[in-house]
Amino acid sequence: MNTHDIHGLHHVTAICGDPQRNYEFYNGTLGLRLVKKTVNFDDPSTYHLYYADGSGTPGSVMTFFPWKNLPSGRDGTGEVSATAFATDEPGLAYWKARLEEAGADVRGPKERFGETYLEFEDPDGLSLEIVATAAPTAFQPWKDSGVPAERQLRGFHSVTLSEAGYERTQALLTQQMGWSLVKESGGRYRFQAPGAGPASIVDVLCLPAARHALPGRGTVHHVAFRVDDDDAQRRWRETLAKLGYNLSPVMDRSYFHSIYYREPGGILFEIATNNPGFAVDEPADRMGASLMLPAQYEAARQEIEAALPPLEAKAT
Ligand code: ZN
Repeated sequence: MNTHDIHGLHHVTAICGDPQRNYEFYNGTLGLRLVKKTVNFDDPSTYHLYYADGSGTPGSVMTFFPWKNLPSGRDGTGEVSATAFATDEPGLAYWKARLEEAGADVRGPKERFGETYLEFEDPDGLSLEIVATAAPTAFQPWKDSGVPAERQLRGFHSVTLSEAGYERTQALLTQQMGWSLVKESGGRYRFQAPGAGPASIVDVLCLPAARHALPGRGTVHHVAFRVDDDDAQRRWRETLAKLGYNLSPVMDRSYFHSIYYREPGGILFEIATNNPGFAVDEPADRMGASLMLPAQYEAARQEIEAALPPLEAKAT
């Protein structure tokens, strides 16, 4: 492993409906910390909510754009069809009971590649999994979570990409992004980042007969991979541009810097830097408590705050 590698997942960004319902599920039921409450930088009339472990560790960050009246999306190919969080073996029974108590339809434990997992959906129909794994984790517990520290979700295990075919996506992941094919069974191909660190798995599920997915509420918008710094990101941008990919310029997302490109199956990929992190604009122990705005929107703070619904902790 070297410092320029793509080490694994950084965040997953999805689309939800009602932000209050989303907050109650991710902060309340899943016990994640809201590490950043900000706006969509391209549409400041809506929130961008970031949930993560106690310190906002890359590889644990699930983010949402809430659009209350957006129609639901449709499952299919060319989408991230499942986002999996990590737990340990005793954690599965805890999570099955906790999710069922919250009214979720939980399937499993099931088995895949020697690991057991649960399947369920969030309140907008987004497909989630919790996988029991002995893989390394960089997770930091959150002291104010409703979930005891030893049972808290330990960042991501993986994402699953559903694709009509896998060869070109495989070529991007292995020949171009430096990952390895580590397992294969029943049309599911498992790829892992160099170093096999935390949140370092992507599964490609080949569904040649399925229809194409449609974006909307309850679907993933994009998946972001992590690199150590801006230098690594610049190198990847050059490498992918030389290979013929269309890439965005480097975008300043305040908490990380981003480049975006479409993988061959149509899913939006991002490479995000680990720096500067979520404590860049508020103290680490206060992250998520206040609405944080990028500089270009500070002058309009009053109108922006007035238009956003308050988020209330889930009643217990
Ligand atoms: Zn992103």
